[in-house]
Amino acid sequence: MTKLASRSISTDVPAPSDDRRSKNPIVCYEVDHLPAFDAELYQQAKESLEKVDEVVVPPRDGGHFHVPAGHFFRIVSVEGPQVGDLNLWNANDLNERFFSGKTRQLHASHLSTGDRLWSNMPYLRPMATITQDTLDWYGWDEDGAGVHDVIGTRCDPYTNHMLKNVDYNHCCHSNLTRALADARGLSLDGAEPHVHDVMNVFMCTGFTRDTHQYFMKASPVRPGDFIEFFAEIDLLGALSTCPGGDCGSSHSDDKTPCYPLLVEIFKPADGSLKGWSPAKRSGYAGGHKA
Ligand SMILES: [Zn+2]
Repeated sequence: MTKLASRSISTDVPAPSDDRRSKNPIVCYEVDHLPAFDAELYQQAKESLEKVDEVVVPPRDGGHFHVPAGHFFRIVSVEGPQVGDLNLWNANDLNERFFSGKTRQLHASHLSTGDRLWSNMPYLRPMATITQDTLDWYGWDEDGAGVHDVIGTRCDPYTNHMLKNVDYNHCCHSNLTRALADARGLSLDGAEPHVHDVMNVFMCTGFTRDTHQYFMKASPVRPGDFIEFFAEIDLLGALSTCPGGDCGSSHSDDKTPCYPLLVEIFKPADGSLKGWSPAKRSGYAGGHKA
């Protein structure tokens, strides 16, 4: 029996006749019941895109942007390899926000074209659909790593203080807090509770094979790469340019080279989204009664 490096095992291993380890894995969710990814619909809309806004997020900082339902937005690598931590809210109600955990359960640990970013309960609807990803070629590498994870949360000053005993104010959590405060005229204390687990855009991560610990490695992103989303509802977005840069060496400090990220908003031509309507919130009647 293999002993995991990070754990001590004091319990006797069951007899070989015990079959508790021999069961087949079952994928938890029947994802073929999800609404299908209508590539043709999005492709048709993309033939008539007009850029209506852009935001440059400086290195080690945050920025915010608004995407009306039925518009597209791209996060674009410029100048150098850079990871971005993405938060999304319903632009009309900050209580509805991106639900990293359920998105991971429904799709995978890492996202790409055709996957959706789902909102929290009780809304639980697609907030955005990934319509293009220039890093989709990366797939899974020999370490089991992939790009654009929804397993990490975001680097934050509390964990950093706990591990290094220093205060650092440009972690993604702080950058996102400032971005939301700026977007909504909130105090930093008022904005912070709305910041949530992120999609780690362009980050290359996985779990080590021996100890199953979260690891990162230098992102394969290069200037010109982008990931594109379609807004299924009105969105407020915030993006942090992680102080880890390409997240190939360290994070939560000022040592690593960091670069800006560009967010571009695109409007499709009127009438180019035939049959599409904004996503509806969950149809569960509610109540939770036994
Ligand atoms: Zn970060």
